Amino acid sequence: MQTFRCQCGHKLFFGSSFCVSCQETVGMCPTCRQVTALKSLDNETWQCMNQACGQKLKLCRNRVEYKACNCTIAIEEPDQAYCNYCRLNQVIPNLSIEGNLVKWRRLEAAKRRVLYGVESNGLPIGDPSRNDYLPLKFEFKEDDARPVSTGHACGLITINLQEADSVKREQTRVEFGEPQRTLVGHFRHELGHYYWDMLVEPSKLEAFRQLFGNEENPTYADAQAAYYANGPQPDWQSRFISAYASMHPWEDFAESFAAYLDMTSIVSTAQSFPRINAAVPPDDFDAWLKAYREIGVMANEFNRDIGLLDLVPEVFNKLVIEKLRFMHDLQEIRVQSPESSGSSSSS
Ligand SMILES: [Zn+2]
Ligand SMILES: [Zn+2]
Ligand SMILES: [Zn+2]
Ligand SMILES: [Zn+2]
Repeated sequence: MQTFRCQCGHKLFFGSSFCVSCQETVGMCPTCRQVTALKSLDNETWQCMNQACGQKLKLCRNRVEYKACNCTIAIEEPDQAYCNYCRLNQVIPNLSIEGNLVKWRRLEAAKRRVLYGVESNGLPIGDPSRNDYLPLKFEFKEDDARPVSTGHACGLITINLQEADSVKREQTRVEFGEPQRTLVGHFRHELGHYYWDMLVEPSKLEAFRQLFGNEENPTYADAQAAYYANGPQPDWQSRFISAYASMHPWEDFAESFAAYLDMTSIVSTAQSFPRINAAVPPDDFDAWLKAYREIGVMANEFNRDIGLLDLVPEVFNKLVIEKLRFMHDLQEIRVQSPESSGSSSSS
């Protein structure tokens, strides 16, 4: 992620709500897509201080009431109380339970970052209030009598609140032998399922099947049962981005999609730091991958220097590279009013 500038000249970050230098209120403006200083006009109205913008704004309700957001809403949207990201929430955690507010804030921070990145990649986000694309919705739930599975079905992404508990998440990571397990990673993976429904099934199914296999044979349920009984395919490193990707073509797609978003996010971040030479033509996938590999080697060494997990643990074999290229080409797709397939429910 790029960094932003306050009117006082100090650096602002994507998640900033105020400037640590001049103490001004700051926030994400949906019009110029910058985190900027906000000038108070009256009790409820603010103005974006990005000189090229000047949009009049109000604060997202989740920001005012819970400090769970740093976004704003254009004043021209009088009926909108929540920002473009918070309005996608269907279910939020029970905030009367101790600890849940902190966990929910972490989920919202990861969700905002990932959705902003998806928009920067030119991919559409289905707005539930308009009937344009498959509406995207989120629910953050806790286990009760029935355990909550993190997953996606027909545009609804469910995340188990426990994933926001870093101790439990690390425990799960070790248990499943995963190189990384993060909230950002969960959102990227589940969005992969969402974009499969929205962009791949209606118009790229044959090309998908050639690269990832037939998603109907074996069925998802059979593939899932086989994976949990026998583990990943023994030669998964030669064909898949991760062990989990070898379970079923849908999971292969979601894992590859997440890896593609990792790549564009990390290379874009590098591009915003002039010390790192990461300028690549936007459409040149091979140049993006080359930059990512170079930055990945460097970042992994930084991480190893202080004993952190690798930033880029994946190996990009030939087939995986073609799968990532497939994701790159998805940006060219624009579908209107796709039918919700209702066929896929996957985790
Ligand atoms: Zn400032
Ligand atoms: Zn603005
Ligand atoms: Zn919000
Ligand atoms: Zn999945």
